[in-house]
Amino acid sequence: VLPDILADGGPAPTSLPTGDYPSADALIGAMAGAVAGLRGRYDNIAAVGCGVPGLVDFDNGHVNHITNVAGWGNVPLRDILASKTGLPVLVDNDANCMAYAEFRHGAARGLRNVVALTLGTGIGGGLIIDGRPYRGSSGAGAEMGHVVIDGDGPPCNGNCPNRGCVEALASGTALAREGRTAAEREPDSALGRARAAGREIDGPEIVACARAGDQVAIDLLALVGRRLGVALSGLANTFDPDVIVLGGGVMDAGELLLGPARAELRRRALTPQNEVPVRAAALGADAGMIGAAILARDEISSGAEVTH
Ligand SMILES: [Zn+2]
Repeated sequence: VLPDILADGGPAPTSLPTGDYPSADALIGAMAGAVAGLRGRYDNIAAVGCGVPGLVDFDNGHVNHITNVAGWGNVPLRDILASKTGLPVLVDNDANCMAYAEFRHGAARGLRNVVALTLGTGIGGGLIIDGRPYRGSSGAGAEMGHVVIDGDGPPCNGNCPNRGCVEALASGTALAREGRTAAEREPDSALGRARAAGREIDGPEIVACARAGDQVAIDLLALVGRRLGVALSGLANTFDPDVIVLGGGVMDAGELLLGPARAELRRRALTPQNEVPVRAAALGADAGMIGAAILARDEISSGAEVTH
């Protein structure tokens, strides 16, 4: 945790590539080493916050699954890291951390009720209700990427047994899948030419083609944006938030995605929930780290129990 992470002159967030460590033990050891290194340079480090891209049992500080990383079944990360560092540790889902960072310091600053989604390989969700993170009864909330927008849609990703979740239809993975199909169908488009040139048809390639004016790529982003808007209309009706914040790599598409998503939400949601502002996240790729750090700080200073 970097207590002065957001202050002028404070340290820049640092990250360790998870793929460099062969096991959970090795990665946790490296995390403890990084904390020890920071404590050698800063004397006001009070806690450690971990934002985990996967399933977290918040109350127990267990990690039950990490997307794309093996060996993380039911790992008591909070207690292991607390014993290695001698500091209180908070472990939360990375989308919850992103939502909290945007709520405290980003696009939702000063507001009380926030729906936040991260659009990447999957779609993560974080909820702030009445100024507090909402994690549900078992600590596994708020997985809004698994809201269903097409009951007969394609199978969802990873360990989700559902089909037609917004994650299955509007994530970066879904965008790339649609992009590959479109590139094959439209060989004369910029996307089709990129495919013929052997380039990988992924989110960044589709966004680059759309920005260069390729109508096929523009239509794809609009399609994914409208699908996202279907989910946002349900979330707006349910939570009546002050703002919806969208982050993650797919948001590099900016208004090419946001515009159609917003229009679909306006068309479908009840009044007045259909007026909710939909904003791009402000803190970028560091939002998860910043949120984990300030959640650890805030939940410890508020007296909440975050470690044994
Ligand atoms: Zn799902």
